[in-house]
Amino acid sequence: MVLNMANETLNTQCCVVGGGPAGMMLGFLLARAGVRVVVLEKHADFLRDFRGDTVHPSTLEVMHELGLVDEFLKLPHRTVDRLSLQIGKQRIRLIDLTHLPTHCKFIALMPQWDFLNFLADQGRRYRQFDLRMRAEATDLIEDGGRVAGVRIRTPDGALTVHADLVVGCDGRHSTLREKAGLPTDEYGVPMDVLWFRITRHDSDGADVFGHIEAGALLVMLDRGDYWQCAYVIPKGGIDRVQASGIEAFRNRVVALSPFLADRIGELKSFDDVKLLSVMVNRLRQWWRPGLICIGDAAHAMSPIGGVGINIAVQDAVAAANRLAAPLKAGATTSGHLQAVQARRDFPARMTQKIQLTMQNRIIGPALQGTREPKPPLLFKLFDAVPLLRRIPARLLALGIQPEHVRTPDIGAAS
Ligand SMILES: Cc1cc2nc3c(=O)[nH]c(=O)nc-3n(C[C@H](O)[C@H](O)[C@H](O)COP(=O)(O)OP(=O)(O)OC[C@H]3O[C@@H](n4cnc5c(N)ncnc54)[C@H](O)[C@@H]3O)c2cc1C
Repeated sequence: MVLNMANETLNTQCCVVGGGPAGMMLGFLLARAGVRVVVLEKHADFLRDFRGDTVHPSTLEVMHELGLVDEFLKLPHRTVDRLSLQIGKQRIRLIDLTHLPTHCKFIALMPQWDFLNFLADQGRRYRQFDLRMRAEATDLIEDGGRVAGVRIRTPDGALTVHADLVVGCDGRHSTLREKAGLPTDEYGVPMDVLWFRITRHDSDGADVFGHIEAGALLVMLDRGDYWQCAYVIPKGGIDRVQASGIEAFRNRVVALSPFLADRIGELKSFDDVKLLSVMVNRLRQWWRPGLICIGDAAHAMSPIGGVGINIAVQDAVAAANRLAAPLKAGATTSGHLQAVQARRDFPARMTQKIQLTMQNRIIGPALQGTREPKPPLLFKLFDAVPLLRRIPARLLALGIQPEHVRTPDIGAAS
């Protein structure tokens, strides 16, 4: 049998590698502004689990500015406007989103694949938008020290994309940043996450956000008919958990959330429990001539606060604001790439700082500890003074430096 393995070459203004929140938002915004963009995603669809499902008010505000929020919120979702944390015996009310200066004063819990499919559908309305699934970038094409394109593996053969600019949105295991030799600073993380689902009953209640006990931390997200659960373990501790057996693990979960006792048997084996390795790192320089990384490819985020998707979207908005016009004019310079990093490095750095502080001061000691953990004084203040809860609410919901859509809409099919 002879297989037809065609080799294809494309020329475009921008090649976005990675169809996660950063890549899909950037691809859509650039196409909407009239830039020819090829988006490459190595998987066949967006239906992968455990990518985070928290669409924060900052992202919903971007959708509002794009005139899409009403349509977007027609997709099935749950909303959360208050978050509390149980530390030992004390329940702390930590966050109240109801006073935000945004159109949506809540977090929308929505499967990430719905969010990404929505952005893909919006992008497809523009003929400048070319989304290629099952297209894995494997290497960079360089020309005189400048990145000039990407080599891609597809099931149908090799694909080569020549582009004025390549944007690495390929996540925390970014191939592009490695191939580009961009140096990364790694920050130690004391934890990994075990992720699983358990049936939810309406009688369960909904607002529990997290529960920290000596040696254990469980976060449960209300996903309608099931709980998406994150059980946090010390970094590298999976072997010990597995060695103790699934029954011991079920017991540890039930000790934190006793109401799950009647259905914990749904976890039949460790096949039902996925390990997610947590990492926090950041590029010192996000770009080289002809290439820039954004989202997790530039700064891998911890799951704390569920902010990673939203920061990736904010990066995409900031990048589109600074790059759409020069890309369209064929005049992108390193100065434009530097401007994107200058805008987004500070929010990424500060958010990671807060995540690392929480990891090292609260989560790490609790996981190692044998005594009942106590909430820090600041958390007690948030609980006691409702007005103060607006501060962490703004940080969580809007991020350190909210971005606004400044790119034009050339009109679909134009
Ligand atoms: C355990 C855990 C839980 C988390 N939970 C949340 C949460 O609840 N809420 C939240 O906001 N954030 C959460 N995060 C963080 C969040 O997942 C990331 O910050 C966010 O997804 C980053 O978006 P991105 O677009 O930069 O990268 P990604 O979402 O990682 O997307 C990268 C995309 O690139 C594709 N790709 C990779 N390599 C290639 C290649 N060579 N060629 C083509 N395509 C490629 C991948 O398939 C993927 O689709 C969590 C993180 C962890 C580790």
